[in-house]
This record gives sequence, structure tokens and C-alpha cells, in this order.
Amino acid sequence: MRKGGIFGLLLLWGLGAFGQRKCGIVDERNALIAQDASWIQKFENQRSLLQSIADNYLAQHAEGKEQRATSIPTIPVIFHIMVTNAQLARMGGIDGLKMRVDSQMVVLNRDYNRQNADSVMIPSLWKPLYGNPGIRFGLAHTSPIGWNSPGYELKIIPDVPGGFYAGTGGIYSDAKYDSTGGLNAWDISRYVNVWCYNFADASGYLGLTYSKSFTIATTRDQEGISLYYPALGCQDTGGTLFFPYGHSFRLGRTLTHEMGHYFEIWHTWGDDGFDDCPWSGSHRDDGIADTPPQGNSSAGLPAYTIPDGTLNDVCQDSMMVNMQSIGYACLDFMDYTDDSSMHLFTPMQAAVMASMVSPGGESYSLTQHPELLQYPANTGIAGVNVGLDFSISPNPSTGLICVTSSQKMQKLVLYSAIGQEISLPPGTGQGENYYSIDLSGLDKGIYFLRCNFATGSITSKVLLQ
Ligand SMILES: [Zn+2]
Repeated sequence: MRKGGIFGLLLLWGLGAFGQRKCGIVDERNALIAQDASWIQKFENQRSLLQSIADNYLAQHAEGKEQRATSIPTIPVIFHIMVTNAQLARMGGIDGLKMRVDSQMVVLNRDYNRQNADSVMIPSLWKPLYGNPGIRFGLAHTSPIGWNSPGYELKIIPDVPGGFYAGTGGIYSDAKYDSTGGLNAWDISRYVNVWCYNFADASGYLGLTYSKSFTIATTRDQEGISLYYPALGCQDTGGTLFFPYGHSFRLGRTLTHEMGHYFEIWHTWGDDGFDDCPWSGSHRDDGIADTPPQGNSSAGLPAYTIPDGTLNDVCQDSMMVNMQSIGYACLDFMDYTDDSSMHLFTPMQAAVMASMVSPGGESYSLTQHPELLQYPANTGIAGVNVGLDFSISPNPSTGLICVTSSQKMQKLVLYSAIGQEISLPPGTGQGENYYSIDLSGLDKGIYFLRCNFATGSITSKVLLQ
């Protein structure tokens, strides 16, 4: 594909039609530029600063090429999951959803700490370029108002054709507000917000990210990552859960890639839309010196190790400038290959991201809230059994709530603030792991929901607003 020609065109067409990775960040940039042409210069300024950010960080961390001197605190992540009942079933139900969330966190932590087992696939020429961002992530177990959280919110949405992907005032922003049918961001200075829902049916994106450099005062609460819902999680040893495009993206690398954008790094080829090299007038690169010049995205499962070195692309052809024996970065998390072909961030990519979460960095505040990773002693839930995962979301709510639990619920009873029982639909709470309950007919205020299990009960506050 790199050399072009008919074979390349056929390959590109085939992958595009049947499942090449596609990330929405280019279209997001273009949408902002369409609204205000000054974004062109803002993005160029942001990209042109990346190398100095990496250089400064590496100068201060002599060991930074491979290891950080000190570990950094863990960043809380909250998943806002909005799916229909049919989509939830496609994810494997509540059990599948929990598996996806948990396995996703494992993947993130491995990939951001040079602990991914598939690094054995890195060709010898690339071994020195296996960088370590040294960033850790944990599920947000405490909500912004101090209540328990399993690390995700679940909202069952109406089963409309194509699912949920409407957006106005920014790409897919409706999903990010309660008022437009989505789920509000949790405080962006303390949490990384990840919204999981169906937008790929319309766009073909697996993920898209609204980083801090994309936001202005009125869009700060859109900051975060959107994931095509089946791309959430990892299923690396078989299994039966649905992952998109014939299992090409079942290892959880979509979030690894998007988190890179969240920390401001670009695609390895620089998103110029041209299949040529940095020395061509029309080209730009990713602003990072240790990702080799690259003409365009790569896809699928490139055979990056070849008998005479490492797979190269069109940039090798410019004989006068660069033979690029090391090849190009088709094994980088910021290229477009399938999950199983991605293995590394380069040291300079890693340094940019590490700088973002270091003192003075734009995402430093995320690292300062370890308390959000713990279950506080008393946060509105009485009698919680150790090991029992129970959640009501969204909470506060405007009406529709979703109740989920790791154990089958035997009965749900709703009480008013003064203890009067309020009837729920017949059958609610009888033997399932989750219920979607519409409380929109009730007055605004505080309610209490009691859930009985075989092993005891939990009573939790619900706030209707
Ligand atoms: Zn991307």
C-alpha cells in the first residue's frame, strides 16, 4: 500500500469497506476550523510545540527514554455507557460490560507502562524506541458528589434506528449532556471522561477525542474520549463477546490510541491527507522527532519485520533525503493498524504525554485525586457487602435510571424522602442484574431505593432533578 499502485488501491478499498481503523480527530479538527478559521493556526501552534515539550521533559528526566524516575499517581477514569437493550446484550450483558471495563483498564495500564506482553513483537531496530509514558489509570469509584461508583455509568437508551449518535454544536456533543439524552461529564479537572455509545454506524469511527487543546470555555465539559461501544475492552484469548470488524479491534487498543490524543499527541503521519513526506511542500508530520517520516496511515496487520530490515513506506523512496532503514511507525499506538499490530509509544511521544500529567502540565490536576479511586466509608449506601458491585446511574437523574448489580436482585423498593413506598412496574427487581426504571413521573427531590439480594440489602439515595 505504501508504494501505491493498483494493489495498494484495492487493499485500501477493502480495508476501508470492511473495517480499517478510523479515528474522528481529523474530522473534529476540521469541524472546528469550519466554525472558525483561526483554529488552523491554533492546531499548528499546538503541534509545533510538541517537540520542545518532549525535549524539555527528557532533559529533566535523564532516564526518560525508557523509565521515569518516579511513579505518578493514578488518574481516575469514568465510563459513561449509553446503549440500547439490544446493544447491551451485544456487549455481553452486565457481566460482559464489567469484563470489558475491567479488561480495558488492564490494557491501558500495561500500554502506558511498557508492560504490554506483545512487545516481544517489536523488531530489533525498534527496541530502542519502546518508550514509557509511565501513566497509571484507575476506575473512578467515587462520583463528583461523593457517592459510590463502579467506575461506569450505564444508561439504557431508546432503541431508535442506528442507535445514538446525534450531535450538534460539535461532533456528537449530544451524548455528553443529560439535557440532550446523554450523560454529563464528571468534573474534567479530576476525571478522564470516556463516553461509550453507537456512533460508528454513521461515521465509521472507532473513537474520537476532544482534548484540552480542542476546548474553549463553552465546550470544556465535552472534553474526553468517545468510544464506539463494542470497541470497549479486551478479549485476548478467544471468547464470545462481540468486537467490531471481525475481531480486528478486540484488544482494547482503541482507547490506548485515543488516550494518546487526549494527552495531545498526533497520528504518526501528521494527518496532512497526502501520501507524501515531510520534505514535500504539502506535508506535515506529527511534530515528534523520533517517529520516522511517514506518508500516510497504515492498516490491518503490516509485516513490519522483513528480511532486510523493517517495513518502509513511500518516504524511503526519496533517495536523496532519507533511506530510513528503521522503516516507519506502523507498530505505533498512534497509527491505524489492527489492535494486535500496535506495540509502542516512542520515547518522545511518551515524554509529551508524561509532561502533560507532570506539575505544570495541562492534565496535572487529574493525578491529584487518589481519593476518587476508593470507596469512602459512608457515602449514602448502607450495608454494602464487600465485593458487591451496585450502582444507580445517572444519579442525580432527570428521570430514567439504570440499576446494575454484580448479584441478581430479588426485589427493588422505592421510598419517598419520608419513607412512603412508591410502586415500581411489576417484576422490577426480580432476578436480573440490571433494570432500567423511568421515574420521570415523580416530583423532583430525594428518594431511596432499596435492593434485596440473597445475601442482604442495599439502600441508596436517588436524586431526581
Ligand atoms: Zn486517532
